[in-house]
Amino acid sequence: MPIWNPWHGCRKISPGCANCYVYRRDESIGKDASVVSKTGDYSLPLKKNRQGEYKLNAEGGIVFACMTSDFFLEDADDWRLGCWDMIRERKDLEFHIITKRIDRFEQCVPPDWGDGWEHVTICSTCENQDRTDYRLPILLALPIKHREIISEPLLGEINMERYLATGLIEHVTCGGESGPQARPCDFRWIQEIRRQCIRCRVPFTFKQTGALFIKDGKAYHIDRKDQIPQARKSGYSYFPGAGMADAISYKLPERNDLIERLHRSEFRSRFHLSDQDRSYVSEKGIETIRRHAQDIVAKRLLAENPDHDGKQTPMKGHPVFIAQHATACCCRGCLEKWYHIPAGKELTSEEQSYVVDVLMDWIVRECATA
Ligand code: SF4
Repeated sequence: MPIWNPWHGCRKISPGCANCYVYRRDESIGKDASVVSKTGDYSLPLKKNRQGEYKLNAEGGIVFACMTSDFFLEDADDWRLGCWDMIRERKDLEFHIITKRIDRFEQCVPPDWGDGWEHVTICSTCENQDRTDYRLPILLALPIKHREIISEPLLGEINMERYLATGLIEHVTCGGESGPQARPCDFRWIQEIRRQCIRCRVPFTFKQTGALFIKDGKAYHIDRKDQIPQARKSGYSYFPGAGMADAISYKLPERNDLIERLHRSEFRSRFHLSDQDRSYVSEKGIETIRRHAQDIVAKRLLAENPDHDGKQTPMKGHPVFIAQHATACCCRGCLEKWYHIPAGKELTSEEQSYVVDVLMDWIVRECATA
């Protein structure tokens, strides 16, 4: 996952900040994380390699901005406009900005922000009920094209259903806290948010257990290396364990609705087949290309946790690869976001067929408009 840190250092502002990993990491090397400074990567989105290609390219997937600070931090007010200029220029990328300072948003956006930029997602963190009830009404009222909620570290039970019911939240991510001072994360809190998401049809990811995970009243100390894999393997994002009463299902999106949403994405709608790709399709025939698509989906997307997820689909080399980027079937993360197919489980044959049909629809349409 590509990360762009234009500045480093932050100021604690919220209960979720108490054991901030930026502070923890900086302390371990004798650095003061409250000193905020521009990094050498400030201009990363515009940097190019010797071949004249952008160093930050769409192949890596979503670009997470400002992960060792907060994009809307007061200390960075003089530097932010330059970042917006770069974000505006790189419409070929998808930027995700995670913030605890959504209340500073309006004074921090550029003059041409309008009703939001299609390639920018704003993620507001909500670690407890108090911060949820403060930040989400603000998030919902702002002109933003894509909104997400991150409840990590989750510090207590949260009822966010009335905000989810607006239909304006695209995704919720939950997880526990890591580090030696980690506060407990109770599995009941995760389940409760998941139920709210399911009722409102909002995709939900259980990202990590945290270091101190409570399940059925029992505390588990989980090694850092196991926190994300255990959450993924659990399938708790969407699927309960055996014997649980509240069985949860999800539905593949309605095809026309999916195509409409893809069409609205500036990032996705930029992908097109080249003349060479079209000739290849015509030479091989559509049935052969379909077999290739089946093969590619089975080899690169089928597994519950494919190797190098997020990087398994090249940007060129086969028409199916291009179709995968255009239709958001490029990795399990995108399948979860766009198709609501949870990561951390094998694709069923129905899901594989659905994905292959979407890919082939797109390829056929591309060839027809040549
Ligand atoms: S806002 Fe984020 S980066 Fe800043 S102190 Fe809080 S947790 Fe750390």
